[in-house]
Amino acid sequence: MNLIFLGAPGSGKGTQAIRLAEKVNILHLSTGDLLRAAVKEGTELGKKAEGFMKAGELVPDEVIIGLIEAKQASGDLNNGFILDGFPRTIPQAESLDKMFDRVGTKIDNAVLLDVDDEEIINRLSGRMSCSGCQAGYNYPANMPKKEGVCDKCGGELVRRPDDMPDVVKNRLDVYKKQTQPIEDYYRGKGVLLPITGVGVPDEIFSRICEGLKV
Ligand code: AMP
Repeated sequence: MNLIFLGAPGSGKGTQAIRLAEKVNILHLSTGDLLRAAVKEGTELGKKAEGFMKAGELVPDEVIIGLIEAKQASGDLNNGFILDGFPRTIPQAESLDKMFDRVGTKIDNAVLLDVDDEEIINRLSGRMSCSGCQAGYNYPANMPKKEGVCDKCGGELVRRPDDMPDVVKNRLDVYKKQTQPIEDYYRGKGVLLPITGVGVPDEIFSRICEGLKV
């Protein structure tokens, strides 16, 4: 099963994609996670990406396309995958299609998590994650037992620098201008699967599984 997960920042696509990848035993590949790890390690890729990420802007297409092509070339995408956070622009979507045409792979579905702006802003302003194991929390819906401390590993909970309120607004604008057009791109190909992304996570997960018949 080859899937793309689409949705605004804070739509819950990361959480749901991880859960689905576990259930159907395929690779979960988040370009945001790869870039954050590269920034933390101070690699060349991290240095190229850091400024864009801090400002809530997209990393240039050629950088991110190179990253996905490397994953394809190393065989990581051979046994099914969920691409989480890629593609995010029409040129990225077109490059992905060209790459898959060359190797005879296709996207089965692009799952779109639909959440309205007000809910997105509320969610992002309450989002925290563990600096150790990356577990996600959300105030007030999903709080840790002890304020600021991860339930799973005892690590410190931090807010992503790009979840600061002024950057959140820019990320939403960027989503609307640069990423939303790819919803139509996949709708046109007959593979878009829109899912209502509001409600408790279990409910949303059931809707996704039902839509994909898994
Ligand atoms: P995410 O965790 O998916 O919200 O991604 C965090 C940040 O990483 C984004 O705001 C972008 O700066 C960058 N990023 C992640 N994926 C992409 C992509 N496909 N194209 C460009 N920038 C990306």
